[in-house]
Amino acid sequence: MSDCLFCKITKKEIPADVVYEDGRLMVFKDIKPSAPVHLLVVPKEHIQSIAHITDNHREVLSDLIYAAKDMAEKQGLSGYKLTFNVGREGGQLVDHLHLHLLGGWGSTVSE
Ligand code: 5GP
Ligand code: ZN
Repeated sequence: MSDCLFCKITKKEIPADVVYEDGRLMVFKDIKPSAPVHLLVVPKEHIQSIAHITDNHREVLSDLIYAAKDMAEKQGLSGYKLTFNVGREGGQLVDHLHLHLLGGWGSTVSE
């Protein structure tokens, strides 16, 4: 997907504040954070959304969740939220699968 923003970021055609990368995924800071810590965990493979995953993507999905857990530990987060927005109605604006890792509120969060 040559016109996909997150494909461009994972191919390093557009810069991002990358905190982790391996052969299959990249983790970078959200440009407009909604929490003190707001990271995006993004597979390098272009998959549009959770609504577009197939049986072949099970490993990719587990990689994303495992990386998010790892990042949360490295950031010292004692609690956090993991969110997939799915489709426009679900708040998804970038059509390349990504897992939001949100945290860093300390003990102030009550939701
Ligand atoms: P969505 O609404 O699709 O679930 O989330 C997309 C996220 O990507 C938003 O939180 C938005 O702030 C972030 N974002 C949009 N454009 C860029 C960008 O160019 N760089 C980075 N690092 N984040 C972006
Ligand atoms: Zn893409």
